Amino acid sequence: MLVDGRYRFTRVPTATDLLNGLNPGELWEACLARASETLDPTAFSSWLEKSVFEELDAGRLTILFPNNFVAGHAKARFGEMLERILREIAGRADLTLNFVGPPAGPAQEGASEPDAPLPRGPAPGTDYLRPGYTFERFVAGPNNQLAYAGALAVTHDGSNSSYNPLFIYGGVGLGKTHLIQAIAHRISQEKVPRTYRYLSAERFLQQYITALERGEVVLFRNKYLNVDFLLMDDIQFLKGKERTQEEFFHRFNEFYQNGKQIVITSDRPPHELEDIEERLVSRFQSGLVADIQPPEYETRLAILHMLAKDEKIDVREGVLDYIATSIRKNVRQLSGVVHRLAAYSRLTGEVISMEMAQKEITSSLGNIASRITAGSIAALVSQSFGVTPNQLKGKQRKREILVPRQVAMYLMRELTTLSLNEIGQFFSGRDHSTVLNSIERISHLMSADAGLQRRVDDLRREMNAV
Ligand code: ADP
Ligand code: MG
Repeated sequence: MLVDGRYRFTRVPTATDLLNGLNPGELWEACLARASETLDPTAFSSWLEKSVFEELDAGRLTILFPNNFVAGHAKARFGEMLERILREIAGRADLTLNFVGPPAGPAQEGASEPDAPLPRGPAPGTDYLRPGYTFERFVAGPNNQLAYAGALAVTHDGSNSSYNPLFIYGGVGLGKTHLIQAIAHRISQEKVPRTYRYLSAERFLQQYITALERGEVVLFRNKYLNVDFLLMDDIQFLKGKERTQEEFFHRFNEFYQNGKQIVITSDRPPHELEDIEERLVSRFQSGLVADIQPPEYETRLAILHMLAKDEKIDVREGVLDYIATSIRKNVRQLSGVVHRLAAYSRLTGEVISMEMAQKEITSSLGNIASRITAGSIAALVSQSFGVTPNQLKGKQRKREILVPRQVAMYLMRELTTLSLNEIGQFFSGRDHSTVLNSIERISHLMSADAGLQRRVDDLRREMNAV
């Protein structure tokens, strides 16, 4: 079960001498719980959430997925990581994982959704909506004003052409999914509810490929007929997926021409979407493009007040203010701190004091600090810029390599306690003045280049470093 973006491991482990006290099913659940702590919630729910343990045979755990495509993709993307987690939790180095789809036979559940006229409300194949992601629980502030107003406007006007599509972009944990789901909640609660189809681009891809595999593309397309709102979360995921982009382009046009509303979210503005076809990018730009920035102090405080009220917790004077001052870049982290404090307070019956809040924040920031190393920064930066870690450390001075190298140095300086010398050591023994120079140069470049600045902000957020 996913709760607040985390997979909750609910069953109490039964004692067996195997696998550190867990039976294999519980072991798999524990692995999922651990994986969900680091994975993006959308990726987690698209690829892993529906997996279940099937059998254990000679150290090999077979895990069942909804279909072969999901099983294959989950293996390629998360297989190694999950095996590592598995071995760690079970305390056995010999365990392996085997990911499978259901045995061949009659079509599985969900494969043959009836083609009958759609009911009002969510269209089949729509992703789950979080109950709390409503307009009522969204705090509007200067940081998200335009996106908020745009989202509200489309629920009033439907496909008012000037807001079609509505394209909302912003960094991780800033409320994009909340806003797009608020639209779905709102239009399905109207007196005459309108229909919507809400899904992440990742899910769109997955469903499209499954449809191709099964020769059910017509069925797939039919699900987009008779729908009033197409709400697509995290469009950046279509990067490099040409055929799926092509399909999306057609669905997009169909919606648009039929005067239906389209809302899209993304982690970056349309023109910075890489490996997305030009014609799609220009479609995205043709309506209202609205960004969400990290919230200002007042908005953070208002969000905290709302969360504290929801959790019905008592906090001492100044505590919320302290949290709002300490965590600045990510709303998800704000709510994480409040939820953990609330749980603690319910358990102990204590009112949340400044001391408790300080401890919680230091420990969550401490966790972050211990996770971030020169190696993890180098790995993330190389991946993001498409260079190899060796190129990053090496001597080449081509711009495509130099910039990521400097970004990595900059982030190491900011996020770790490494000295300039130590950073230099990491980069094939460069001396500290070279490192300092590089950091200064990249800071300069960032102040002149908003795209680069945003990219670095995103990397920082990806590492969950506030
Ligand atoms: P994103 O999709 O941009 O990564 P989410 O929409 O998942 O971020 O938001 C992360 C968390 O922060 C969610 O729990 C969401 O409810 C909360 N949140 C973000 N912005 C706001 C806001 N302005 N008001 C209330 N809650 C917010
Ligand atoms: Mg999201």
